[in-house]
Amino acid sequence: MANCLKKPNNKKNATKPEDEEDKFYCSVCGREIDEDEYESYDGMCWECWDDQLTEESEDMFGDVM
Ligand SMILES: [Zn+2]
Repeated sequence: MANCLKKPNNKKNATKPEDEEDKFYCSVCGREIDEDEYESYDGMCWECWDDQLTEESEDMFGDVM
């Protein structure tokens, strides 16, 4: 019985490097953001999202004036 084939020591689990994780980037400035930010701020970091809100409200104020 040749049931004793020596297997190479393959105990190391192929752990994925952290780079493999899904990463999200701001669609405006391109900085790395986390998934929460991505979902909360429409694909932007909160700073760009805040900028857009400010611009929109400025437009609204412009209409009022
Ligand atoms: Zn940004």
